[in-house]
Amino acid sequence: MGNESFVIVGASLAGAKAAQELRERGFDGRVVLIGAESERPYERPPLTKDYLRGESEREKAYVHRAEFYGEQDIDLMTGATVTAIDPEGSRVTLDDGRDVAFDRLLLATGAEPRRLEVPGAELGGVYYLRTLGDCDELRARIEDSERVVVVGAGWIGSEFAASARQRGLEVTVIDPLALPNERIFGAEIGAFYRDVHTGHGVEMLLGQGLEAFEGDGTVGRVRTTAGKVVECDFAVVGVGIAPRTQIAGDAGVAVDNGVIVNEHLESSVPGIFAAGDVANAWHPLYEHHIRVEHWANAFNQGPAAARAMLGEDVSYDRIPYFFSDQYDVGMEYSGYATSWDEVVFRGDREGGEFIAFWLRDGGVVGGMNVNVWDVNQHVQALIRSRGSVDVAALTDPDTPLDSLVADPTA
Ligand SMILES: Cc1cc2nc3c(=O)[nH]c(=O)nc-3n(C[C@H](O)[C@H](O)[C@H](O)COP(=O)(O)OP(=O)(O)OC[C@H]3O[C@@H](n4cnc5c(N)ncnc54)[C@H](O)[C@@H]3O)c2cc1C
Repeated sequence: MGNESFVIVGASLAGAKAAQELRERGFDGRVVLIGAESERPYERPPLTKDYLRGESEREKAYVHRAEFYGEQDIDLMTGATVTAIDPEGSRVTLDDGRDVAFDRLLLATGAEPRRLEVPGAELGGVYYLRTLGDCDELRARIEDSERVVVVGAGWIGSEFAASARQRGLEVTVIDPLALPNERIFGAEIGAFYRDVHTGHGVEMLLGQGLEAFEGDGTVGRVRTTAGKVVECDFAVVGVGIAPRTQIAGDAGVAVDNGVIVNEHLESSVPGIFAAGDVANAWHPLYEHHIRVEHWANAFNQGPAAARAMLGEDVSYDRIPYFFSDQYDVGMEYSGYATSWDEVVFRGDREGGEFIAFWLRDGGVVGGMNVNVWDVNQHVQALIRSRGSVDVAALTDPDTPLDSLVADPTA
C-alpha cells in the first residue's frame, strides 16, 4: 500500500475523520485531504450555539489540533477546490490547474445552503450560516443589532433564533409550516418547540412564508406572504441544504439527491466513495437509500468509508442520530421515521423532560429524548429490534427501557 494515494475531497468532518481512520488502520501510502475553505477541518454545530454566542474559543471547533495533519503525514490542502474528476485517468484537477492522482477517492463535499429566490434576496444584511466565516460575521451582527428576522424554523433557524435571543436581540421567526419541523416530527413536537421559543419571547410567524426582503441597499424589513411587515437590522435564512454533487455528476458518477453509494459507501464508479452530508447511501436496515445531514453521520460514515477504501467489508447500518440545543432544551433524536401511526410520550411533557416515541405497526421507528439523558442507546436498540412494544410499558417511566427490547442482540 505504501505507493498508493488516497485522495479525499472535502476537508470537513467526514473527510478529516476519514483521513484519521486511514492512518489509524495503518495505511502508509499518501493521504491527501483537499478542502475549498481556508480553515483546517472544523465542526459546524458550535456555529449556531456556544461559538456564535461568544461563549467558546474558536480552537474548540476544530476537528484536530493544527499539528495533527503534519504528525500523521496527511497532506492537507486548504483553499483548494477540486474542479474536475477524471475517473479513467484516476486524477482530480484543482482550481489552480494542478492534478492530483488517486488510487481511491473519497467524496466528502458536504452540502450548501439553499438560497431563497424572493425580491430583495440580494440586499445586504441577508445572511446564510454554513461556515466559520459566516458565523464570525453573524457574531458581529448580533453584537451591533437589536432586531433579527430568521427565515425558516428548521434546526439551523431555530438554533440561531435561540442564540440571538439569548444574546438579547428581538427575534422573529417566519416559516410556511404551521409548526416548526412539523413534516418531520409531527404536530406534538412541533408545538413543543414553538412554545419553547414563544416562552423565551420570540415572535413566531408560522403558516406564512417570506414574500420579500425590503430596504435601500440593506434589508430593513421583511414582508410575509400573509402581508405582515417586520422591521429588522439583518436577516438569517435557514431553508435547508443541497448536497454538493457537481463534480461527481460531471464525472459520470451516479447522482440523485447526493452521490449514490451502496452499503459499502462505494459509488457507481469503483474506487470512488462518498460519505457525510453528500452521500445518499443504501441502508441495510431501511432497505433504501438515505442521505443524512447530521454531525454523527459525518463523524461515523467518514471512517467507515476509509475502511471500505482499505478493502474492509464495511456495511454502514447506523441508525440516523442527531442532537440540538436551544436555550436550556437539549435533545437527541434517533431513527428515520417517514411515516408513523402515533407519537407517545414517557415522562414530563409539560415540564420539558420526556422521551417521545414514533410508532408504526406497533414498533418504534423514532425516538427523541428531551432533557433526559443516557437513554439514546436504548432508543436505538428498540428501533433496531423492530419488535412490537407494549405501549403502556413504553410510556411508563418506571419500566426500564432496555427491558422492552424484543431481541437485545438484534
Ligand atoms: C451551523 C450548523 C450547525 C449544525 N448543528 C448541528 C447539530 O447541532 N447537530 C447535528 O447533528 N448536526 C448539525 N449540523 C450538521 C453537521 O454540521 C453536518 O452534518 C456536517 O458538517 C457534515 O459534514 P461533511 O464533512 O459531510 O460536510 P460539510 O461540513 O458540508 O463539509 C464539506 C466540505 O467540503 C468542501 N468542498 C466541497 N466541494 C469541494 C471541492 N470541489 N473541492 C474542495 N473542497 C470542497 C466544503 O468547502 C466543505 O468544507 C450543523 C450544521 C451547521 C451548518
